[in-house]
Amino acid sequence: MSSAASLLQGQASHSATAYPVRLPSEVLKRRVGQRRHMLAVQGVSYSLITSVLLVYSYAGTIPIIIPSAYFLSGIGLLSIFVVLSEAHFNDRFEDHYLTIFQVAGHVVIQLGFLLAAPGIGFAFLSVVFLIFGFGALRMTSRQAIIAWTLTMIGLAPIFLFTNTPIGLPITTQTERVAAMLSFVFTIGQCAFVGLYGSTMRKMLYDRSFELKAAYKRIEELAELDELTGASNRRCIMRMLEEEIDRATRGGSPCSIALIDLDWFKRINDAYGHPTGDEVLRTFSITTFANIRSVDRFGRYGGEEFLLVLPGMDTGQAMRALDRLRVIIAELDWSAFSPGMKVTMSAGVATLNPNETSDTFLARADSALYAAKAQGRNRITSA
Ligand code: GH3
Ligand code: MG
Ligand code: MG
Repeated sequence: MSSAASLLQGQASHSATAYPVRLPSEVLKRRVGQRRHMLAVQGVSYSLITSVLLVYSYAGTIPIIIPSAYFLSGIGLLSIFVVLSEAHFNDRFEDHYLTIFQVAGHVVIQLGFLLAAPGIGFAFLSVVFLIFGFGALRMTSRQAIIAWTLTMIGLAPIFLFTNTPIGLPITTQTERVAAMLSFVFTIGQCAFVGLYGSTMRKMLYDRSFELKAAYKRIEELAELDELTGASNRRCIMRMLEEEIDRATRGGSPCSIALIDLDWFKRINDAYGHPTGDEVLRTFSITTFANIRSVDRFGRYGGEEFLLVLPGMDTGQAMRALDRLRVIIAELDWSAFSPGMKVTMSAGVATLNPNETSDTFLARADSALYAAKAQGRNRITSA
């Protein structure tokens, strides 16, 4: 079934409408490969049916010209599609397999031979089943209805306006072998079509799973700050708006803290930028470990972070921040470099009625400015 699987790639397309999009060359190359596979499968199918016809010819039921002509017509039609495919004519169409044209061509051949050798007509009619089974995998319902209607128009006069008996003779032992082979091959190819369809479904299912996972990852990446793993500015600002809304609706308090690392430029200068990055990461992880699950923490920019504390009034927020300040100050930073000390300052503000995020943040920022002015390593409220 590997050929079936490879035939399936790039299956979304259906109609044979003109396709103006220029595809990358590797996609075009892959498509030619898929078409070669499909045409080879059809070549095998024609060979199998021809072998049934040869047995009938050996049995004397039909002249040898029938299997020869059948094989040549099938291979002739396939050759036309091979030439078109290799010349990249197919790539001008959305359905690069040209399914509707293939279905039409192959059905015409079967009907022609049904007329030419009605005595073994069921052998050709069973091929029509296969053509539709395969074609339906790629045709739109509209195309399938058109193809079916045209086939009916072709079949009706043969069945209704001629008296020639249509059959699959089983009089002699050789004929029985031929009839059996006809069914065996048809059943086998039906199974192939079914497996082909289920492979397609499985591939699409797997792909949708992969896409979902990739989409989730993209969403995460779009919301996280790469360096610290905290929410990025866009995300923390959105969370702030959400919490302001919630607090306003629920009438509960909400506080924020703008946190800034003290003398961070000196840390960079003294220990190097990579160590500065490590300090930012460690600060972020430590903060995460010491806040509630409802609190929102994000990188506001550089070495400045925003902490949103839903449900906390000024007193509670001041105590929470002071606890964090002590934890940061007492952390063993000498692991990074002997003698290293890191402290933080924060400005706390509590939401006023009907306040917007802009003024809310501005008040926290001036509180932070005050904390810096008063000597750093401290928490000040607005
Ligand atoms: P203050 O106590 O007044 O906040 O002093 P400061 O040195 O921390 O303040 P300042 O704003 O002058 O310096 C902030 C420094 O933070 C400057 C910048 O190089 C550094 N910084 C910003 N983003 C990053 C980062 O992603 N990684 C590292 N290593 N340093 C950063
Ligand atoms: Mg700073
Ligand atoms: Mg700063």
